[in-house]
Amino acid sequence: MGIHLRAEVDALRRAAGDELARIFGAEERDDDDTATALPVPPPGAAWTQLIARRTGERLDAAVGRPVRRVINATGILVHTNLGRAPLPPEVARELPRLLDAYCDVEYDLASGGRGDRNDRADRLLCALTGAEAALVVNNNAAAVLLALAAHLDGERRQVVVSRGELVEIGGSFRIPDILAQVGAEMVEVGTTNRTRLADYAAVVGPRTALLLKVHPSNYRLSGFTAEVGAAALADLGRRSGVPVVVDEGSGLLRPHPAPQLAGHASLSELVAAGAALACGSGDKLLGGPQAGLLVGRADPVRRCRRHPLYRALRPNRASLAALEAVLRLHLSGRPLPLDRLWPDADEHRQRLEEAASRLPGAEIVPADAYVGGGSAPERPVPGEALSLPGDDALLARLRTGEPPVVGYLRDGRLILDLRSVAADDDEALLAAVHAARDDETPFSAAEGEE
Ligand SMILES: *Cc1c(COP(=O)(O)O)cnc(C)c1O
Repeated sequence: MGIHLRAEVDALRRAAGDELARIFGAEERDDDDTATALPVPPPGAAWTQLIARRTGERLDAAVGRPVRRVINATGILVHTNLGRAPLPPEVARELPRLLDAYCDVEYDLASGGRGDRNDRADRLLCALTGAEAALVVNNNAAAVLLALAAHLDGERRQVVVSRGELVEIGGSFRIPDILAQVGAEMVEVGTTNRTRLADYAAVVGPRTALLLKVHPSNYRLSGFTAEVGAAALADLGRRSGVPVVVDEGSGLLRPHPAPQLAGHASLSELVAAGAALACGSGDKLLGGPQAGLLVGRADPVRRCRRHPLYRALRPNRASLAALEAVLRLHLSGRPLPLDRLWPDADEHRQRLEEAASRLPGAEIVPADAYVGGGSAPERPVPGEALSLPGDDALLARLRTGEPPVVGYLRDGRLILDLRSVAADDDEALLAAVHAARDDETPFSAAEGEE
């Protein structure tokens, strides 16, 4: 028994040592401190746990800690660096039960035969947007790619797009590059600031595969500008037998009453306007998981579904399940995390006062929140936030505390905007602020600069 245990421990130590050495670098393999630093082995499971813990600690140091929950007190609701939209808690709670089991994602339980991975989400999307058909892919970049690729056909390879919409969305998603990737011939029309319907009409011909309209996301044209709306473009498309594809971007399903989103055409409006396809993200204004949505007429959606690229771009089961659940919430009309940006004024004031009363030095001050995710970048959502004495050092301690809290500095004060914080996280936020401030010494900022 003793010999057996010894052999097991040696094997474990060697395995952990080699694998860690690959991550930590070559020197570690030589000095082999994993082996020397370990104490005389206690029996069985405890030893295994000890190795697991040590390995975990050293991995954290070498490759960084695992992805963690973060409290987003920036007031930017769809925060791209913080994982975009948070899922509704009732959806997030159910997800893990699907992940450690099998599920009927592509199986029809009634017949015992193969099912369609997309069926449910498609029907929900159609119900929500009035589209004839819908398809879900991995993200919106994939949706745009697929929509373009599926409409290029033999000699028909020209994609007509306004010079005002040849944008980079971020992360090198550049419209001209995407067009080049799928082998489309880009036909630019109009000027940077003004594009008219006649500009499109002048170039449409037998080689036109589609008319493309792109929401410029976090880029704005203002002043002497003109663009052609989806309805007018779709009308031209209908008359000339050319489909119109619109990259809406945000995944806004229906018109939103907030003034910040006025003028942002939703997927349902684009479908009603006659777009063959409208593409949007799952994790921006829709408030779901990372996903790309294609909604529109039956034939163009079928083309996308049958295109060989679809298999490479399809969503994973966890995203699909989360998306379905979020779409069901949209249909039920229940509040979603996006609604946090426009809270009931009295309730929100009460929440702020409660928090301020427990944080010495806190005040309630006017502050702007933002939708984020490329939507309405110049349309702040006015309101109130917490303001506390603070500096860069406090900001850093909050970021590196447990749970990490991300706020911002304004005029030498720390601002924490609760509109991007779930009410359930208020206690954790207060505790994190207390912990970060108790650490504070008058010289901490100076020491940090050393
Ligand atoms: C966000 C966005 C994209 C990219 O969507 P992902 O889901 O991040 O792939 C593309 N186009 C527009 C207009 C966008 O706003």
